Amino acid sequence: MKQTLKIIKQAKEEGRKALLEPEAKLICIEYGIPVTKFKVAANEKEAAEYADEIGYPVVLKIVSPEIIHKSDAGAVMINLQNASDVSEAYRKILENVKKYNANARIVGVLVQEMAPQSTETIVGAIKDPQFGQTIMFGLGGIFVELLKDVSFRIAPITADDAKEMITQLKAYPLLKGFRNSPPADIDALVSILLNTSRLVMDNPEIKELDLNPVLAYQKGAKAVDARIILE
Ligand code: ADP
Ligand code: MG
Repeated sequence: MKQTLKIIKQAKEEGRKALLEPEAKLICIEYGIPVTKFKVAANEKEAAEYADEIGYPVVLKIVSPEIIHKSDAGAVMINLQNASDVSEAYRKILENVKKYNANARIVGVLVQEMAPQSTETIVGAIKDPQFGQTIMFGLGGIFVELLKDVSFRIAPITADDAKEMITQLKAYPLLKGFRNSPPADIDALVSILLNTSRLVMDNPEIKELDLNPVLAYQKGAKAVDARIILE
């Protein structure tokens, strides 16, 4: 897990507690957690080039150590259909970020594959002062925020634990397939939970990890956002 150690070491040296989304996603990749394809552009021209490479539609997001909640800063633009959309979004994001926090350092703009809409789930980890690394799973949006419909297990977890974390949710019928929502790939979610457990057990300096959202498909699941906070 060479890349992970390197990324964490560099953040520490720079005095950063929050890893940047591309850093967190590289760590996810090293631990077998599927994420949206991405590249970090240093300028508008590069953003359009990378979008062409990745294929449309794409999503653009700010990469800044000062911007942790990117949509709050107007720094996420989704569903960009062509190079001119990308150029426009690039400029708009920089403008929004400047207004939101004039001191925010800009590392670049993340160009990424736009994942098709599907059921949004949340995979998290938090280091509990008493129990140590703890894994969390829930469904996105109102299920977590309003209904607190989430499950927790102390890491390391087994495949059976991971499966239980999913099936014990009140909203589980939604994942099993309900009315117009097709059944989600439960094994893919189990695999993400297991890999997340492995990731935080290997790296005790991780205080918080958030994959929000993880889109669950009939086949596979993918994290479109990743946040890692160090101690
Ligand atoms: P934030 O820092 O605000 O949590 P996110 O990266 O989660 O930023 O983006 C905000 C929202 O935009 C996500 O919850 C998701 O609905 C949508 N989104 C972000 N990236 C993608 C993507 N690559 N594909 C599809 N939807 C995305
Ligand atoms: Mg998010």
